[in-house]
Amino acid sequence: MVSPLILGLDADDTLWENQARFDTAQAKLRDLLSPWVEGKVVDETLLNIERNNVKLYGYGVKSFTLSSIQAAVELTNREITADLTTAIIESGWWIIKHPVEILPGVAETLKILSSNHQLLLITKGDPADQYKKINASGLSHYFRGIEVVQEKDPNTYLELLERHNVDVKDFVMVGNSVPSDILPILSIQGRAIHIPHHSTWGHEQVDESVVASFNFPVIESFSQLPDILATFSEN
Ligand SMILES: [Mg+2]
Repeated sequence: MVSPLILGLDADDTLWENQARFDTAQAKLRDLLSPWVEGKVVDETLLNIERNNVKLYGYGVKSFTLSSIQAAVELTNREITADLTTAIIESGWWIIKHPVEILPGVAETLKILSSNHQLLLITKGDPADQYKKINASGLSHYFRGIEVVQEKDPNTYLELLERHNVDVKDFVMVGNSVPSDILPILSIQGRAIHIPHHSTWGHEQVDESVVASFNFPVIESFSQLPDILATFSEN
């Protein structure tokens, strides 16, 4: 029997590896800027610049590349060379061109989930890069809808659910980011399941005390989803 529960699934670091690529590019940036500043300063400066720039450029690799160049201009006291700029741009290309690496158990579990639930893929980031990954993943046929959104906030989810004719009481969001995949859903009275990933971008981290004030299930791997969903009531 098909469950009335509709699942929203995050993509980056929920279905496939993502942050690890950015971590590698950021390690390269630390290396490139090591003649000027310590790695810790690079990390802090870049995160501050990214926090501002996501409001202007949105999320994803283009935004990361521009922020990295901006950080390099600042941290080299404007001594940044064409070679250094090119190396940063190439780090961004490396992320974009990296093959999609589906996380363990995801493909098999999606097959099981899609036989019982309607699935929506809900991701944010650079649309060109996101659609490229979605197409390359070979997983898109499991989804009733695919949404690349600008920001994962309560209004975005409400608008999206209305457009797909989904009642929020029937909706369960699954993802690796507490501020993007969990808290906005709880705030609109939906349900959410957290699957932490080994690496989380600073911008997506929340204080432990904030997390502790909410109650949501946390599982270790995507393969555990069918079992935990079986314990969910249907309204
Ligand atoms: Mg994610």
